[in-house]
Amino acid sequence: MAGTMGEAARHEADQTVPRGVSILGATGSIGASTLDVIARHPGQFRVAALTAHRNVAGLVALCVQHRPELAVIGDAALEGQLRTELQRADLRTRVGSGVPGLLEAAQCENAPVVVAAIVGAAGLPPTIAAARAGKRLLLANKEAIVCAGALLLEAVRAGGATLLPLDSEHNAIHQCLAGARSHAGVRRLILTASGGPFRVRQDLSQVTPEQACAHPNWQMGRKISVDSATLMNKGLEVIEASCLFGFARNQIDVVVHPQSVVHSMVEFGDGSVLAQMGTPDMRTPIAYALGFPERIESGSERLDFLRLSALTFEAPDLGRFPCLALAYRALESGPVASIVLNASNELAVEAFLARRLAFMAIAPVISESLEAVTCGAPQSVDEVLAIDELARVHARGVIVRRARAGFHPDS
Ligand code: NDP
Repeated sequence: MAGTMGEAARHEADQTVPRGVSILGATGSIGASTLDVIARHPGQFRVAALTAHRNVAGLVALCVQHRPELAVIGDAALEGQLRTELQRADLRTRVGSGVPGLLEAAQCENAPVVVAAIVGAAGLPPTIAAARAGKRLLLANKEAIVCAGALLLEAVRAGGATLLPLDSEHNAIHQCLAGARSHAGVRRLILTASGGPFRVRQDLSQVTPEQACAHPNWQMGRKISVDSATLMNKGLEVIEASCLFGFARNQIDVVVHPQSVVHSMVEFGDGSVLAQMGTPDMRTPIAYALGFPERIESGSERLDFLRLSALTFEAPDLGRFPCLALAYRALESGPVASIVLNASNELAVEAFLARRLAFMAIAPVISESLEAVTCGAPQSVDEVLAIDELARVHARGVIVRRARAGFHPDS
């Protein structure tokens, strides 16, 4: 995990005034949890910039509550509406839009902390920009690191940024590795998975979006909820862990742990296994990353061991959940496959949520795309985005073909 004196030194210098935080994807689930933690520490943090994609009303409501200096709407066609509604609310918030606006929020001078919580590869350019600008980068946007892990880490290094993962599994591993002088003594990383809503359901042919989004333990946005139901979320996390912590596929295992109390583990060569535990609440990893290296209050419910009936662990079923196997394959194949995996998954999930594609067709769309799109490894963010677009063109074709042939779950 990259961390430099640059960010640390600035942190020391800034401790007497609240640190500005820019939240990319503020209207989402991670955005809401971050704002909740920040509101508990008004002396330490203040909201500097907020962004959304199309949810103007949600963004304006957040601006009324948190008074940022900058508000950005990703869909540039909505900039006028955002400006009018902010004026109507008597706010002088500066307005930005489109990719330039997102980049401005990522680089905002008064925000040494940036929360990357946009969903999908759309979050890649601002996440890279925040890294290059030397921010403390709190990374939830796993698709960015899956698509461009090496480029993102290089941007962190070059910019003197500090990257702290918000994904609960990677945050847990970061905590378990704290104090390890090197990774030489680590035998393996063990990522836990809840198993999602269909852990024990055998017939997945009639799954609806509502069923797929009803996660048993976590309240999350719709895309990551579907990813959890297919286990692609765990697949993306395996790739993310490999990149963030520098371990090969054969040193990263996944175990299904339905209670979501153990958020992940590290096994060391001496036989010790360190686990990070807590109630399933994203405010815990967010508070860890905001306060690091100090510990701050998160608002999450405390873990009561006397009320825990059991902690159980089982192997993932790669037959019923082929997306996890596809992600393993992509990690072994290299960076292009990871980009294609992510792009085709994003489109397949979108089509499933729009009832244009069956749940069981998500994996075949990804598999066909992985077969079809091959090229040399990307050397720049523009090349990543070009491969991402190529994969989307191909996946769109597969989705249209499969949708014509197929089944549409009603509700
Ligand atoms: P949500 O769908 O709840 O929120 C997504 C946010 O991104 C919204 O603010 C949305 O704006 C914005 N957004 C969507 N598309 C674009 C775009 N094209 N350009 C700019 N902004 C956009 O997602 P989550 O909060 O659940 O997840 C965010 C990220 O965090 C994902 O990568 C997810 O995998 C990761 N994550 C989430 C966890 C969770 O518990 N939710 C846990 C671990 C990781 P608008 O509201 O206007 O659409």
